[in-house]
Amino acid sequence: MSSTTSPGSLAASSDPYDRPIEPGDKRINRVHSIPFLLAHLLPLAAIFVKVTWTDVILCAGLYLVRMMLITGGYHRYFSHRSYRLSRVPQFILAFAGTTAVQKGPLWWAAHHRAHHRFSDTDRDVHSPQHGFFWSHVGWILSDRFKETNRDAIRDLTRFPELVWVDRYNWIGPWALAAGCFLIGGWGGLFIGFFLSTVLVWHGTFAINSMAHVFGKRRYATTDTSRNSFLLAMLTFGEGWHNNHHHYQASARQGFFWWEWDPTYYALRVLAVARVVKDLKAPSKKMRRAGRIKDGQFDVGMFRKHFNQALSAAAMSVGTLTSAPAQLIAGAGQAVQGARSAVADARTATSEALDARLEAARRSFEELTEATRRAADELGNLSRSYQRNLLLHDDA
Ligand SMILES: [Zn+2]
Ligand SMILES: [Zn+2]
Repeated sequence: MSSTTSPGSLAASSDPYDRPIEPGDKRINRVHSIPFLLAHLLPLAAIFVKVTWTDVILCAGLYLVRMMLITGGYHRYFSHRSYRLSRVPQFILAFAGTTAVQKGPLWWAAHHRAHHRFSDTDRDVHSPQHGFFWSHVGWILSDRFKETNRDAIRDLTRFPELVWVDRYNWIGPWALAAGCFLIGGWGGLFIGFFLSTVLVWHGTFAINSMAHVFGKRRYATTDTSRNSFLLAMLTFGEGWHNNHHHYQASARQGFFWWEWDPTYYALRVLAVARVVKDLKAPSKKMRRAGRIKDGQFDVGMFRKHFNQALSAAAMSVGTLTSAPAQLIAGAGQAVQGARSAVADARTATSEALDARLEAARRSFEELTEATRRAADELGNLSRSYQRNLLLHDDA
């Protein structure tokens, strides 16, 4: 489910992700970014060599296989444990996943779990609310998220072979690049290996940077995730990102037959072959729960717009008295309170649920009314302040 811990409640923990992303964190490590940039330039070197159909097929095949390894392996298995594998296939999946050149499975899973824990807050690893560039590639090229938080992946670090694969995650890519060179020469290397690698990168990154921006929301999750058919096509099923945030433990992300999810189809085939066990899929009840069209309060979008409104107000507050600033800060706290009351009500099983929900709704209405009044007052004050300034200038 989309149950996230509120950032504040973990403030005393040693969790390295539990700290807002500051402007200083966004500095790109230029030296470490060189191989990344170089990989983008190498496919262009293909104009100097002979490119054959073998190289093109190699490129398409490696896009397909490695995108599947990321979606079905790094994401749905290592990050979310949405199915079971025995130890040997688990090791093979981890090693094969490294060929996509997205670091090791432990690093990937730890950061992805942090994304779910802090979705669209100031602590989110790659929220587009920190800007498109940051959410697409900036967070990878900065130093802020270089290390792996072992506490977030204890279920994986108990396998020494996974720790080994994560540490030596360069072996897979180098072996694959060498294989491509042996098959297709320079064309095999530039097009077969490097072009497909860059395409898999940006397909994966697009989920981080775009699946919280483009598409539709079906479920009222605490974040801004969306469902996009186009992104699902490019990433073999990862575009149903709002479904995924609604039910993270599910191996199936396209919840209905028309939601294209080839990663899940492949997992089904592997389940028939008994390689994969306990594939988790959403029940009918789960698919129906929490829909916006049924009146579920869309807290994720509310929070986003409310934060935008608050920062618009905060920009002008500095030039005024501190009273409106306090009012607005108070309103922000009240929103947090109302939010956690609604979240509590969601999990409570007692008969008092209706009453609590009603109370939360009432306090929320009072709050929005107070906020509106405060905003109006702020607007009026700020306009008369400007008028005064202008009068002063004229005089
Ligand atoms: Zn997300
Ligand atoms: Zn996920």
